[in-house]
Amino acid sequence: MTPHHVLVLGGTHEARRLAIALHHDPAFAVTSSLAGRVAVPRLPCGDVRIGGFGGAAGLAAWLRGHRTDAVVDATHPFAARMTANAVAATAAVGVPLIVLRRPGWIEGPGDRWHRVPAAAAAAALVPRLGARVFLAIGSGDLAAFARLDAWCLLRAVDPPPPPLPARHHLVVARGPFTADAERALLREHRVEVLVARDSGGELTAAKLVAARELGLPVVLIARPPAPDAPVVASVEEAVAWLAAALPGRP
Ligand code: NAP
Repeated sequence: MTPHHVLVLGGTHEARRLAIALHHDPAFAVTSSLAGRVAVPRLPCGDVRIGGFGGAAGLAAWLRGHRTDAVVDATHPFAARMTANAVAATAAVGVPLIVLRRPGWIEGPGDRWHRVPAAAAAAALVPRLGARVFLAIGSGDLAAFARLDAWCLLRAVDPPPPPLPARHHLVVARGPFTADAERALLREHRVEVLVARDSGGELTAAKLVAARELGLPVVLIARPPAPDAPVVASVEEAVAWLAAALPGRP
């Protein structure tokens, strides 16, 4: 029997772990898809394609053309457009879809979090909390802070495109970062407030640990609305879901 062809929409740690699990299971043939945003991406194991599909219609055509049996949307929780396209395209083609999404973060003792619905609300709140801000968010959300008066620390894998806050310092770096390193960065730049997105997961939580230890307020941007598709929280659950959705193992 030919293996089931699974498309993994990736760009995350979970997507890379899922690609490894599927690559080593003879029941599946996996293709991972990356947007192509990062100049030198961390490549998943197995087949990889890079670049947009051309909207939901383009993805639907790809699924038909590549005889895809199932799709796992393992994109970042804030990659809402890709997720919406995956929901629309899989519905149009009649291919099962599962969304692999790590849970959001939960506030603990000592945290000083301000949850806001979107980047614009974060930009409006920051001036009331501090004059030196670490914008630990994706490049795509920086535009919402372009008119901020505060001094901003930015960090990105590749230099982000304009518009950017007028007074900023850019650190080009790729995570994950330790809590010690995050604490040192916050101290070095005398950061007074941290802005982050509710991405969830352990790999990017060190900045929240460091902010807690230093007693800094955190503005946490809420996730986009939950997708209209079944969601699992772990790689193991995604593999189990695929095995159940695609019966008849080779
Ligand atoms: P987005 O706004 O939801 O997607 C914009 C467009 O980029 C999509 O319509 C699609 O283009 C293309 N695209 C996105 N993910 C793709 C994928 N995995 N494979 C092929 N095309 C993809 O996404 P984004 O927030 O820019 O994120 C882009 C990628 O970076 C995602 O794969 C995500 O997992 C990863 N990432 C994002 C963040 C973040 O902060 N958002 C953080 C870490 C990693 P077409 O319409 O032409 O198909």
